[in-house]
Amino acid sequence: MSKIAIIGSGFAGLSAAAILAQAGHQVDVYEKHQQLGGRARQFEAQGFKFDMGPSWYWMPEIFEQFYRKFGKKASDFYELVRLEPSYEVIFEGETIKVPSKLEDLYKLFEEIEPGSASKLKAFLDEAKYKYQAGMNTYVWKPGHSWFEYLDKEVISSFFKLQMLSSVSSQVRKLFSDPRLIKILEFPVLFLGAKPSNTPALYTLMNYADMGLGTWYPIGGMHEIIKAFVSICKDQGVKFHTNKEVKTIHTQNDVASSIEFADGKSAALDYIISGADYHHTEQDLLSSTARNYSESYWQNRKMAPSSLLFYLGLNKRIPNLKHHTLFFDADFDIHADEIYNSHEWPSDPLFYVCCPSQTDDTIAPEGFENMFLLMPISTELEDSQEKQEEYYQRMLSRLNKHVGFDINSNVVYKRAFSIDDFKSEYHSFKGNAYGLANTLYQTGPLKPKLRNKRITNLVYAGQLTVPGPGVPPSIISGQLAANEILSNL
Ligand SMILES: Cc1cc2nc3c(=O)[nH]c(=O)nc-3n(C[C@H](O)[C@H](O)[C@H](O)COP(=O)(O)OP(=O)(O)OC[C@H]3O[C@@H](n4cnc5c(N)ncnc54)[C@H](O)[C@@H]3O)c2cc1C
Repeated sequence: MSKIAIIGSGFAGLSAAAILAQAGHQVDVYEKHQQLGGRARQFEAQGFKFDMGPSWYWMPEIFEQFYRKFGKKASDFYELVRLEPSYEVIFEGETIKVPSKLEDLYKLFEEIEPGSASKLKAFLDEAKYKYQAGMNTYVWKPGHSWFEYLDKEVISSFFKLQMLSSVSSQVRKLFSDPRLIKILEFPVLFLGAKPSNTPALYTLMNYADMGLGTWYPIGGMHEIIKAFVSICKDQGVKFHTNKEVKTIHTQNDVASSIEFADGKSAALDYIISGADYHHTEQDLLSSTARNYSESYWQNRKMAPSSLLFYLGLNKRIPNLKHHTLFFDADFDIHADEIYNSHEWPSDPLFYVCCPSQTDDTIAPEGFENMFLLMPISTELEDSQEKQEEYYQRMLSRLNKHVGFDINSNVVYKRAFSIDDFKSEYHSFKGNAYGLANTLYQTGPLKPKLRNKRITNLVYAGQLTVPGPGVPPSIISGQLAANEILSNL
């Protein structure tokens, strides 16, 4: 039995912990916060329960796959409901509801652009193929070297997976209506890069969206964290909260102990860091023990940060859906301001999540629980004035959509932005979703799972393989655990 320390209790840390404890090891998870869950934490205020990060439950099979390893299923922990419509998109002067049923979706496309239903069908068939190849094969590669990808199946699928083309060019080849293009390019925003810089392999996200559906666990996304923690505890994992790691001590090429902010320390045989990769390397390790230099990090393309407002309203909003995308602005200009010119957006796209439309357990009766999210560059200088300016701008567009001024109904408001991502999660540049999934930051080109100098140190989470998002983080934790298990 080895003594294994895990830093961070996000999805990556929790999934690694459960797998290693199940294999018979003594596993301790150290988390700087009082609450477990990392970016998927939840806080309570004035009778509201706010999920702080993820809100889209996509790829339900990845969750089930994990639960099955422990003889469980999602329904043992929470009630999952499929949303109808999946989401609503606001364009200038009109609103489109994206239906959950494929037949309805084909009808919608055909009405908007005659001839597009059959193209969508072919596009989704291809996306399904990519999803199956991507999620069954690619994402499970640890990314140590290109040789992992040299099996017959992967090579024969390489051209079909369109790694060298972009999501944007694939979509625009088939569809010309700007609203359909926006709907089909939207899912790759989860991957933190522009559709024109995201390999066409990732149209697999369209199959996840339209083929597999948008789901929601009653009680909020934090219910998933509770499920993972319960599995970990069943396997004997010990949790230590309010326990911030300050240093990973190494001797020769081995990590020997970790030291905490309270001055205490713990010995270990193996360590997985599920904290942000850059923080682990630059803040916790000595310079001779790092995989990457600061200039390496400065040259990475980061996924955006976010300006968020958690709002509690003392009134129901009848015509608001669970997920609403405000695409009534120029997508390309906003993307350029996030990824290239690094400016505060001139006319932002944003997203409103109102889970109390589906779930009456997260707000007092007759009240509404929502958050506003605006993606922003990680290079911006955060300030309360800027936050308030964009709050008012988002609110005025939301008011227009719902048909009344909600300002006087806001009974709870909390902002969360770049500086909070930095201080709460030690997030590099305040990123919300890790590293952008561009071609040059995919697979073996991502920061490596293993520390090449310290033999018993492994990284996990959204900055290493396979990438950002809840399902990839769950997979990342399992890949990191396998690195240790295959070493024993
Ligand atoms: C606003 C927002 C919306 C999102 N929406 C979605 C969505 O709808 N769907 C989706 O699939 N994904 C979404 N994501 C992405 C998803 O939430 C993340 O990719 C995933 O949760 C990352 O998990 P992780 O385990 O890699 O990291 P984290 O969740 O960040 O976990 C890292 C943990 O390490 C802890 N830590 C850091 N430093 C130390 C230290 N020195 N000592 C001890 N502990 C430490 C942190 O406190 C944290 O708990 C969203 C993210 C954000 C921020």
